[in-house]
Amino acid sequence: TKWVYAFGGGSADGDREDRNLLGGKGANLAEMAKLGLPVPPGFTLTTAVCTAFYENDRSYPSDLNDQVEDALAALETKVGKTFGDPSNPLLVSVRSGARASMPGMMDTVLNLGLNDETAEGLAKLSGDRRFALDSYRRFITMYSDVVLGVPHATFEEILETFKEERDYSLDTEISAEEWEEVIVEYKAAVKRALDFPFPTDPRDQLWGAIGAVFGSWMNDRANTYRRMYDIPSSWGTAVNIQAMVFGNMGDTSATGVAFTRDPSTGEKGYYGEFLINAQGEDVVAGIRTPQCLTESMRIKMNDHLPSMETAMPDVFAQLTEVFDNLENHYRDMQDIEFTVEQGRLWMLQTRNGKRTTKAALKIAVDMVAEKLITEDEAVLRVDPTQLDQLLHPTIDESYTRDVLAKGLPASPGAASGAVVFDADEAETRAAQGEKVILVRVETSPEDIHGMHAAQAIVTARGGMTSHAAVVARGMGRPCVSGAGEIRIDTEALTFTTRGRVIKDGDIVTVDGATGEVLMGEAPMIKPEMTGDFAALMEWADKARRMTVRTNAETPADVQTAKEFGAEGIGLCRTEHMFFDADRIAAVREMILAEDQMGRVAALAKILPMQRDDFAEIFRIMEDRPCTIRLLDPPLHEFLPHTEEDVHAVAEATGLPVEGLWQRAKDLSESNPMLGHRGCRLGITFPEIYEMQARAIFEAQALVEKETGVKPVAEVMIPLVATAKELEILKVRVEAVADDVDRETGVKPKYLIGTMIELPRAALRAGDIAAHAEFFSFGTNDLTQTTFGLSRDDAGKFLGDYLEAGIFEKDPFVSLDQDGVGDLVKIAVDRGRAARPGLKLGICGEHGGDPASIHFCESAGLDYVSCSPYRVPIARLAAAQAAL
Ligand code: PEP
Ligand code: MG
Repeated sequence: TKWVYAFGGGSADGDREDRNLLGGKGANLAEMAKLGLPVPPGFTLTTAVCTAFYENDRSYPSDLNDQVEDALAALETKVGKTFGDPSNPLLVSVRSGARASMPGMMDTVLNLGLNDETAEGLAKLSGDRRFALDSYRRFITMYSDVVLGVPHATFEEILETFKEERDYSLDTEISAEEWEEVIVEYKAAVKRALDFPFPTDPRDQLWGAIGAVFGSWMNDRANTYRRMYDIPSSWGTAVNIQAMVFGNMGDTSATGVAFTRDPSTGEKGYYGEFLINAQGEDVVAGIRTPQCLTESMRIKMNDHLPSMETAMPDVFAQLTEVFDNLENHYRDMQDIEFTVEQGRLWMLQTRNGKRTTKAALKIAVDMVAEKLITEDEAVLRVDPTQLDQLLHPTIDESYTRDVLAKGLPASPGAASGAVVFDADEAETRAAQGEKVILVRVETSPEDIHGMHAAQAIVTARGGMTSHAAVVARGMGRPCVSGAGEIRIDTEALTFTTRGRVIKDGDIVTVDGATGEVLMGEAPMIKPEMTGDFAALMEWADKARRMTVRTNAETPADVQTAKEFGAEGIGLCRTEHMFFDADRIAAVREMILAEDQMGRVAALAKILPMQRDDFAEIFRIMEDRPCTIRLLDPPLHEFLPHTEEDVHAVAEATGLPVEGLWQRAKDLSESNPMLGHRGCRLGITFPEIYEMQARAIFEAQALVEKETGVKPVAEVMIPLVATAKELEILKVRVEAVADDVDRETGVKPKYLIGTMIELPRAALRAGDIAAHAEFFSFGTNDLTQTTFGLSRDDAGKFLGDYLEAGIFEKDPFVSLDQDGVGDLVKIAVDRGRAARPGLKLGICGEHGGDPASIHFCESAGLDYVSCSPYRVPIARLAAAQAAL
């Protein structure tokens, strides 16, 4: 097996197609080398090594060592230096690189190969002893931190003390001789912490770093990240070993990170930051505040430091040429890392850049206009779940802002919440339902869970490409980074800014669009769904086969869903229309009624309310189909719970309080989800369904007379297990339709169908289809009943199931395609066989989940239905599923 792939010097063993084997970073390094771009040569240990490593009890394939030695020898020849040779040392970087970028893993070790002897060699070779020792101390710090587990802070403390004693404020004030002293202290600290000395043999260092990368694939952070983003652990990571180039070789050297378009707005134009005389990690770590890449960016940010465009015009010109080259080649916005070594440009990485949804839309739409990609490709470029970000509110313009601090607008959107200073704390308090804002000096991969739990993130340090900024944009959290005015006191749990003290728990608002942090909770407004969004949605609508409906019952929700593009209602849960104070009493009266007479009296009160509700829905939806489900109340939600409830019913009905309590007790069920619900209620109390059917048909007649538009109703009978249930209820509904037709002179346009939400219904779909004109898969109940897992109680142990890997995803969020999905497919086949043209849809929560929508496409459903705010997501996901 070939475990090691080389790249550099105009050629490479692999290319970007080999992403699975070489990881994202390795594949793109190979691709850039093949394109003839200046890539420092190196080689990649494949993800297959990682897989083999874990399959064989954490040991390497036997021939790996030889292949690495061969690759190293070839690398030495290419660059004319020798690994470990004091007179002419080859130094390398070691980087992890999975298929998908994963901030939870070991990232990078630079300057590997340095020891006391090779550092002197580097000093002679470069003619700059200070540079050599600076590189050496960086190497000890990084290697100790990420490979040996001696925390970064150990070294920072030593350095801080060292500087304090000499009254230095900047690292650059430290001389070569002084760095030597620091290094002695660093090594002593490692020895103290580990009981063994810092490794001096470059080969030991190399294998140590390789082991750390492969080991990090299974660390807690990586596991958490993989779970969060559905990355299988079987993918493994690659290791990239690459000849070092130095951005810290004086003022003609630099290092930087750039995007070929603005990752926040999508605006065309180079966008990035660089640091003169620095090494790669300095930019991302946010330790020094970087300078702007371009003049236009510098002017916009009102930065006083010169841009790269003016400071290094020749390299800048070369760099932008590479940007254009890469963007045209990959046909997507690129996120690029580069280093300038004494005026010479080197490319260290390129990848499709992470971006906000706003930017994703703009870039996709612009690239269609630039003829770089097709409309269908544009549709495939935007992650549907990301659209959620666009629905984020912004702060009302007219609001007078009380600005606490200003930093960089690192990730758009706005949010308010209570100030929290620690990621664990953020997670805990968010789990308790509190909205929190995470405020940190800077963030690191250890903070990811807290960032996820927070409404927004504020950091005191770091640029637009700092960890906090990149991760927040990816998650769609508003973020202000580099708010330097903020002084955080993690002991006192406060931050001070502009002479004010803000405490843990104080409410602030973060405006990721302006970079401002505001005191208090600011009023928000909903965004407009126009421009790029509308253009992309139009292309998505052209591409998709399934229609998209909504689950909604209140006029406000129905209206919102229509504005989001809902093409009908897939589920109107009529029991949800009864929760309002003025109605719940009548509904309780109906439920608690001792006999049919009592029920009929209560129903007479409800009929006009329902009719008006339905009429309102038909007015909004016009001629779009509206699936209205007849009553399906888990009874426990409607039974009276308090004295007050009972008194209200007693008053309305004139029945004695005592009797009502007794009746409520009689009706209470120990397993209400499997109790007297759905059509079972319709079978025992047919007058309830008849009243609802009447309300629907009368509303149709009313609206048709009023507007001239013919409303379309789909009357849906829930929780059917047998064909007989449906047959009985269908006859009753049809009779009501005939009555209303006769009474009003308007013939209602309607279908009668059922939900498939019990396993028996799925299996007997053939019989059921004889009486149903449509099926709507109620995958909430179907999941519950297929797993035998109560919807109400699963939360108690679902976490353990996810943790243990028994469930890959919560089956109530993303459809269990193997099990529940099989039942759906069986029902589709048997239903359509019995009734060709049977209309099929889904109305469980899964109708708004992109992975489940893909399944629905493959199962051949006609539509998906989801909550109003998910409608745009479903439109896009349905398009992607069809393409
Ligand atoms: C379902 O069961 O999937 C469904 C849509 O109905 P409900 O959630 O109201 O039970
Ligand atoms: Mg249901």
